[in-house]
Amino acid sequence: MSASQQQGQVAVYPAADAYEAGVVPIRFSGWPQPAPAPVYAALSGDCEADVVVVVGAGLAGASLTLHLAERGVSVVLLEADQPASGASGRNAGHVQPYLGSLEALQDLPNQGRDFIDYFVERRNIVFDINQKYDLAADTERCGLVDAANRKHAALGRKARLWQGLGYAVEEVGGARLQELLGTSAYDYGLHWQEGGRVNPYLFTQGMVAAATRLGARVHGNSCVLACEREGAQWRLRTATGSVRAARVVLCTNGHVGNPFFPELARTQFPLLACGLATRPLPAEVMAQINPARVALMQYPAGLYPLVIDGRGRLITATIPGSGQAQDAQRYFAYFLRYLRRTFPALAGVPIELESYWTGMTANSSSAYEAAYPQFYRVDEGVLALLNLGSWGNVMGPLLGLHLAEVLLADRPDQLLLPLREPRAVRCAGLFETKIRRVLIPAARLADRLGLV
Ligand SMILES: Cc1cc2nc3c(=O)[nH]c(=O)nc-3n(C[C@H](O)[C@H](O)[C@H](O)COP(=O)(O)OP(=O)(O)OC[C@H]3O[C@@H](n4cnc5c(N)ncnc54)[C@H](O)[C@@H]3O)c2cc1C
Repeated sequence: MSASQQQGQVAVYPAADAYEAGVVPIRFSGWPQPAPAPVYAALSGDCEADVVVVVGAGLAGASLTLHLAERGVSVVLLEADQPASGASGRNAGHVQPYLGSLEALQDLPNQGRDFIDYFVERRNIVFDINQKYDLAADTERCGLVDAANRKHAALGRKARLWQGLGYAVEEVGGARLQELLGTSAYDYGLHWQEGGRVNPYLFTQGMVAAATRLGARVHGNSCVLACEREGAQWRLRTATGSVRAARVVLCTNGHVGNPFFPELARTQFPLLACGLATRPLPAEVMAQINPARVALMQYPAGLYPLVIDGRGRLITATIPGSGQAQDAQRYFAYFLRYLRRTFPALAGVPIELESYWTGMTANSSSAYEAAYPQFYRVDEGVLALLNLGSWGNVMGPLLGLHLAEVLLADRPDQLLLPLREPRAVRCAGLFETKIRRVLIPAARLADRLGLV
């Protein structure tokens, strides 16, 4: 434990711009555990004749690699840092078992029904993978609650839609919410009996470790610097080696700063988010807060999504104001205000901040509900799975699996989401400015004044 932690203060990385860019070293995230993670050696020398090279070991790349290795495909995974160092090791741990707007899928063949069916059938993929490979990623299928201060017709419609798809989800009133959450702060909500929480860092690391046991070759500290065509194949170069392969899949999330295929970085709306974790709370206090241990989302603003992890820590994520991302104490103070207002059992209980971090999400749409992940056909033999937005915990594993199946069959045309050419979105920067400068501050004020 560092000196600053002993004094009850959170350890903070000195460089403010690293918080703004979402790249503070991953050890500042609340998810890595004290046990040291495996270190994957850098690629060294030139190797050839691999079938697939995956670039980026987040939820998407780790799942793709695992599912290719499961199917006996020779696969190399190259990661600039170490697995789970990107957004996947920094997220809020919610496992959301449903999709955003289905209207966004209406233009797909069969109105997106094939994709919806695929998703519905595999909505528990996080828990299934965790169990299959014994990943010990602190996953809990504890369910999820969307809680609101009053009845919302939109939530009622959502419940009926997903009930129709076979989900155990019900509209609940204040009394039932109080039983589930240990607070009378909410009058209405949806209780999803599926979904829950995960430690996304351990989960991503676990998928990578399982892939190596199945024969995948994984290299950390191997930033791909160039991707060059060699006849019908591609050579990917890092500072210390190269790999030649017939197929390349880029799972690089933002893709920002990568010199190869720079058009991919323009396909998205980046949005910075911050996360924080408290120190574990005493068991007698925890028995009264959210006794059902559901993952909690607030509707409509979702300012402080909450999970309680296996160590009894309260974990949330929110969107920091412009230029304020390094201000851990500010976001902790907001979170504390929310917690104390919402859970009377916390009155007088000392709550300390254990970790504070930031991470970058890459969104395909400026409308939250319509921001579906994207597959891109970048060049002959080069695909990308990007823009997982803020729901990568299920989408990363699910689409990694789907892409592995399609690659094995050599049928990219059978992808259930469209395979698009990379195309620049318009006014990407404006989106982040609007959210961080206007919408979130307004939502925080409305929340504080009890106007939502
Ligand atoms: C604060 C926060 C809270 C969130 N909360 C949730 C949540 O509760 N639930 C949920 O479902 N989702 C959540 N998300 C979103 C989720 O974390 C992301 O959708 C998901 O992690 C994206 O996964 P990925 O594999 O695409 O990207 P990443 O995890 O970012 O992985 C991309 C990897 O590519 C590597 N890379 C990039 N360029 C190169 C290169 N040239 N060579 C080699 N490697 C390279 C990077 O180092 C990185 O490790 C949240 C995100 C944030 C930031």
